[in-house]
Amino acid sequence: MKIQINKQKNENYTIIIGCGRLGANLANTLSDNGEDVLIIDKNKEAFRKLSPAYGGLSLNGDATDLDILQEAQINNATTVIAVTNNDNANILVAQVAREIFHIERVIARLYDPEREYVYHEFGIDTICPAVLSVKEIDKILSRPDMLKDTLQEAQS
Ligand code: AMP
Repeated sequence: MKIQINKQKNENYTIIIGCGRLGANLANTLSDNGEDVLIIDKNKEAFRKLSPAYGGLSLNGDATDLDILQEAQINNATTVIAVTNNDNANILVAQVAREIFHIERVIARLYDPEREYVYHEFGIDTICPAVLSVKEIDKILSRPDMLKDTLQEAQS
């Protein structure tokens, strides 16, 4: 069954690829902020992670399939965020969003920091959990009082 999405290019419309912990939390947050959001996942069980209050759309399918992206009306999206657990899928979708559909803002998660340069060549912003974790841990270690606060928070 096809879902009905009626979007105009001038509205903010975010497509999230991958309804894992990160994707679902992001979708819930954007939806809570009143944004138009659609989340795609190839596993329909994954949508259980969305909150009951989630007001956006969900689409079951493989986002590396152009038909699925077209069904999601990617041509009207202002932002595409690729956060599957597969770097290759994220880079493929991000490149398609950027190069074929000329989406303004494209963000991709990647596990392998060595591949970050590939994304930047295509004007794609990246978030790398390993790099972010290192930065945060380094910040905590450089401020012993912060480490104490973090440990106290974890214990309470
Ligand atoms: P997590 O590992 O918690 O970040 O979850 C990643 C999510 O991405 C899972 O729910 C996967 O089913 C989903 N996923 C992986 N590859 C694809 C893909 N090609 N298209 C759509 N969803 C995907």
